[in-house]
Amino acid sequence: MGMLPSNVLASGHSKCLQVPPGASKRGTTVILKLKPNCECCDKDLAPDAADALICSFECTFCADCAATRLPSGRCPNCGGELVRRPARPAAMLAKYPASTERVTKPHPGCGKAA
Ligand SMILES: [Zn+2]
Ligand SMILES: [Zn+2]
Repeated sequence: MGMLPSNVLASGHSKCLQVPPGASKRGTTVILKLKPNCECCDKDLAPDAADALICSFECTFCADCAATRLPSGRCPNCGGELVRRPARPAAMLAKYPASTERVTKPHPGCGKAA
């Protein structure tokens, strides 16, 4: 086994972002709004649903609608990417409950029976 020169090993300085205290903290923590249903077909989506998709504005859709009704699987409201919504662990749900406010909107291409 070869030995590394000691100056290589010593070169690791921290690149952590230095955030000044209070600079980025305003008010309360913003928590992802876990909507209880698909905005398109009104299907129930549990907080830990594996088929819930969300855009950066928290528009929420089921994987089925994204695949069959939404053009190119993008959010019909903002045109943004839809990604799988991270599941919130039960312990965190108790502390930060999911939203119960159902949101549905008419989008082009949805609301029609397939
Ligand atoms: Zn849906
Ligand atoms: Zn959106």
